[in-house]
Amino acid sequence: MKTSATKPAASRPSRASRSRGPSARELIFGDLWEFDPAPETADPYIRSSYGLFINGKFSPARKGGSFPSISPGNEKKLTDLALADAADVDAAYSAASKAYEKVWSKLPGNERGKFLYRIARLLQDRAREFAVAESLDGGKPIKESRDFDVPTAAAHFFYHAGWADKLDHLAPGRQVAPYGVVGQVIPWNFPLLMLAWKIAPALAAGNCIVIKPAETTSITALKLCEVFQEAGLPPGVVNVVTGAGETGAAVMSHPLASKVAFTGSTEVGKAIMRSLAGTGKKMTMELGGKAANIVFEDAPLGQAVEGIINGIFFNQGHVCCAGSRLLVQESIADDMLTRLKLRMQSLRVGDPLDKNTDIGAINSKEQLTRISELVKSGVAEGAELYQTPCRLPSKGFYFPPSIFSKVTQSHRIAREEIFGPVLSILTFRTPEEAIEKANNTAYGLSAGVWTDKGSRILKMASQLKAGVVWANTYNKFDPASPFGGYKESGFGREGGRQGLLDYCKLL
Ligand code: NAD
Repeated sequence: MKTSATKPAASRPSRASRSRGPSARELIFGDLWEFDPAPETADPYIRSSYGLFINGKFSPARKGGSFPSISPGNEKKLTDLALADAADVDAAYSAASKAYEKVWSKLPGNERGKFLYRIARLLQDRAREFAVAESLDGGKPIKESRDFDVPTAAAHFFYHAGWADKLDHLAPGRQVAPYGVVGQVIPWNFPLLMLAWKIAPALAAGNCIVIKPAETTSITALKLCEVFQEAGLPPGVVNVVTGAGETGAAVMSHPLASKVAFTGSTEVGKAIMRSLAGTGKKMTMELGGKAANIVFEDAPLGQAVEGIINGIFFNQGHVCCAGSRLLVQESIADDMLTRLKLRMQSLRVGDPLDKNTDIGAINSKEQLTRISELVKSGVAEGAELYQTPCRLPSKGFYFPPSIFSKVTQSHRIAREEIFGPVLSILTFRTPEEAIEKANNTAYGLSAGVWTDKGSRILKMASQLKAGVVWANTYNKFDPASPFGGYKESGFGREGGRQGLLDYCKLL
């Protein structure tokens, strides 16, 4: 680390203008301190082009269509991906159906489990390469893909490997059976992890799969196909088709899929539900969110600041369960705002591959436009915007960490999912008001509660309409713990016994 003390501290707020919390220590990194670049240099082994992964092999799309995949960190092309149409999706389903009838349904659970263990171990072996590919392709900081996405994805395969021969204990008193072939579509915010959340339980339960990753982040899905080949997974058990919405619709509506699982926006989830109504397909929907992170005056405030920062700025805020609405008790609202502003100034925005980066690139130009538009609406509607004075790279898609104070319930930034590094702060006086405001949303995916009182945590958790409630922490995930929503955040669970049950028929 080097200092540049001679630089003018132009963007540094004047001492007089700064009011401090009682224990807040000020660290100004913006222009006073500079870190030497510390890029991760491992080779991600990305091929110049990828075909569709059907029946254990990579092959071009039947009509030869393809589309480029770029890196949001620098806008450079990474590879070309095959564009699957309905005929390609049909071929993928035929392969999955054949694999199910001839091989997968005949294997005992312990043999299926061995494949899952092998996949988990191979993923661990290639963890560094996968982490670099994930950050290059999706824009998330390398420290997150390295320390969270890849290890948690491997943990999902390990966890479900353990279940594969214990399905008799899944629903006490009932027998379970796989659906056969399942269709799955996932979003771009946790490309490898969402893939693991979908594939591991479906395979453990005995199903074969056709899955479509998001069009901006398909690379680690295709790299995982190399792992399937290396693990000797029988051809056709997992098939990966790449493309955009039309390909996704073909995956969801195919007649051979007896169960479909979708993770993505509420808007697209609703359209899929409408199109599948009456078909008898079993569905799981993991959709959007607008979580309330509620801080009471008796909370450990220093710890809460870390939880709030993690809750909204983790993965650039591209998190369905992001704590994007901060509800602060009125008596500590000013202190909390001061502490948050100070903490935000030490967040480093920039190259996703740099090990010191806290906030990487926004996943796509379209998403950057959407975030900018919603932030403009917040200013126009009268909320007060604070953004850290950080320098953004000239190439790539970046947005500074932002917080809005003086937000009211009717503001768009309090109601709509921004899916970016933008926090909206509201206040409350009583626990009842906090619950009413927290539940006043169409969504119901997650919530956070910060307080010193255990009884208050229990009361709040029982009254919050959210699938996950974290207490004195935020964004904690475990393969054994079910995750999913209420209301317009969807239905069904992923993870744990409950998530596995969603891939089984009860006999
Ligand atoms: P999106 O709905 O635009 O796209 C998700 C996926 O659906 C992509 O693969 C896309 O190609 C595909 N798709 C688009 N139109 C389709 C159609 N008509 N039929 C079938 N598939 C179609 O969402 P996104 O922008 O990629 O992801 C962000 C959204 O995902 C956010 O709303 C976020 O909250 C949500 N999400 C939810 C969870 C959860 O567990 N609840 C987890 C991650 C993300």
